Order: sequence, then C-alpha cells, then structure tokens
Amino acid sequence: MHHPENDPSYLGLTVNKGVAQPPSINPYLNLRRKRQRKEYSVQEFVEGILSGNIALLSQAVTLVESSLPEHQEMAQAIIEQALPYSGNSIRVGITGVPGAGKSTSIDAFGMHLIGKGHKLAVLAIDPSSERTKGSILGDKTRMEKLSVEKNAFIRPSPSAGSLGGVARKTRETIVLCEAAGFDYIFVETVGVGQSETAVHSMVDFFLLIQLAGTGDELQGIKRGIMEMADGIVINKADGDNLEKARMAQTQLRNALHLFPLPESGWSPEVLTYSGYYALGIDQVWDMIHRYVSFVKENGYFDIRRNKQSKFWMYETINERLRNDFYKNAEIEKLMPQLEEDVLSARKSSFMAAKEALERYYSTR
Ligand code: GDP
Repeated sequence: MHHPENDPSYLGLTVNKGVAQPPSINPYLNLRRKRQRKEYSVQEFVEGILSGNIALLSQAVTLVESSLPEHQEMAQAIIEQALPYSGNSIRVGITGVPGAGKSTSIDAFGMHLIGKGHKLAVLAIDPSSERTKGSILGDKTRMEKLSVEKNAFIRPSPSAGSLGGVARKTRETIVLCEAAGFDYIFVETVGVGQSETAVHSMVDFFLLIQLAGTGDELQGIKRGIMEMADGIVINKADGDNLEKARMAQTQLRNALHLFPLPESGWSPEVLTYSGYYALGIDQVWDMIHRYVSFVKENGYFDIRRNKQSKFWMYETINERLRNDFYKNAEIEKLMPQLEEDVLSARKSSFMAAKEALERYYSTR
C-alpha cells in the first residue's frame, strides 16, 4: 500500500538512529564493591589510633563491639597496647529523660570545647537499643553541628547484649578514644533504668540534665540519680521558661542540701542554661573544670578512677562467669526443669541453685 512514510524522500516523522545510551548501572561499581577491606594487624591498628587515624579508630571500636572470639582477641590486644596512652581526658557522663535536651546540649557543649581547641568523643550507653533495633542515643543526626566536625568522634551505643556487656564495650572504647588523642569524652545515657549507674561507673563527672515546669523536678531523688550527680543543669532556661527554670534551680538547691556531702567533698551545683540558644554554656564548663581541679587537688579524682578500674575488673569476671554458666549446653537444658521444680515447691530455690552449680562444675 502506498504511504508517504515509505517514500525514501519523505522528511516527516522519521526516527533517527541516535547514539547508544550508557548503561544505567555504573560498570565500575562492581569493581569497587568487590574490593576487600584491608585487614590490619594489631600493630597497624595501634599505630593508626595513636596517630589519630579516625578510620582505624572506628574499625577498632567495631572489633571491641563484635562478639566473634577472633575479633574480641584482637580488640583486647589493641586495648592492652593503647592503655598506657589512655587516661588523659575528662570523662563526662550526661543523663536526662528523653526530651530533656541531651543531644541539643551535647551539640552545644561539644562545639564549646572544640572552639577551645579540644577533641571530643561522644559515646552512648543504651541497652534498650537491642530491642528497638537501632540506637536512639549517639545518633549523629541528633547532633547537627558536631557531626560535621573533624575533631568530634560520635559513636552510637553498642547494641548487643546485657547492660553490663554494653557498658564494658563503651568503657573499652573510652581507652581507644583517649589513645587517639580525644581529651574530652562524653558518655550519654537516657534517664531510665540502670544505665545511669553504668555510666556513673566510668566517668569523672556525672551531669544530670533536668527540665523545669514538668512538675517532676524532684523525681530524680526517688530514683537515686540525684545522689550520683556532680552537677545538675536545668535546660531550656530561655524565653517564657526562664522564670520556671530559676524556680526549679532554687528548689533543687534546697533539696540537695538535705543530702550528706558526697565522698568527693564536692557539693553538687545546680545551674540553668539553654542548649538550644547556647546560653550559660560557659558556666556549665566552668563548674565541671572547677570540680576537676577540686578533686585533683584532694586526691579524689584518682580514687574514683581506681575504684572504677577495680569495679570493671570484677564486673568483667562476673559477666564472663555468668555467660559461661548460662550458655553451657547442660545448664540450658536443666534450667527449665529446675524452674518448674522451684515453682511447684518440689525443690527449694537454694537446692535448685546448688544442683545447677554442681552440674555445671561436673561438666568442666
Ligand atoms: P533528648 O531526647 O534529651 O536528646 O532531647 P533533644 O535534644 O532532642 O531535645 C528535645 C526537644 O527540646 C527538641 O525539640 C529541642 O529542640 C528542644 N530543646 C532542646 N534544648 C532546648 C533549649 O535549650 N531551649 C528550648 N526552648 N528548647 C530546647
């Protein structure tokens, strides 16, 4: 059939051949993906960390957090060599209920320190992160300014295991960060549960962030958190909230007078500030530095660190013993039966425990 398109001289709607389109997938991508991450030796890790290499520090922390025995072995060897270079930092624990402004404040505190030429590591202890699959603490996106600072190292909470296990890993990470030249270490935790006690056991100064006007200014007292605090700071002292913050300050100061003087000899102070508007940050740091000078002078700084080292030795032994025991195949089989025996009063708790322990030792 005749059609103008079939006429070779037709200039209307013809389809040009065009150029070949590039593939939609980058052909080099595969190559890049296949390239193996270099395996470093313990020596290379240690040298890298001591020279302040953040990539190697990060990888070493990953080894610390790993539960693979070969990673653990390597991590321990790195820590052992890093240990003589650690200890030269001010370790600050920071706690507060969700919404108290921890991340906003850490951002402001951290920028203050970095502005003075310091290097800051922000770590976190959040045992709930295993359940929620993803840590809520130490998340870089929560600290906008710090997260782009090369002198800030932000690491979310180790996620696996018991509180004791998570805390031990964070404590080991402190050693590595100090060896890498970080002279301020923050350990953040959320103001619920037992994690504060764990943080308290690894820091020089424990800072409690409180809010005014929530009607729970004194809630910390009940949970024993206030006795642990070396300083209490009331955040969001800005705008309409300023007056309320000052009232809460007075209330807290009065409440603290009822406590006996802590072993440090330092009476915890109560300050107001605004993390968001960066108001009063100097005063918070002035307090922390005065504390550090005070306890270095009276010897408590070393006493506290020595106590913590001892505590972590026993804690590590306890954790290891507990794990060995409960992960023992015989014990795993036996425990449900013993539980039943105890619940149905066939055996006393003590008899059942004795039986379990005897069985455990007989398998060793
Ligand atoms: P976190 O859950 O303890 O880490 O608390 P965030 O830092 O995420 O802060 C919780 C909310 O309080 C956010 O909406 C912040 O913007 C706000 N916030 C934090 N600090 C201040 C402050 O100093 N003043 C005011 N007005 N708001 C603040």
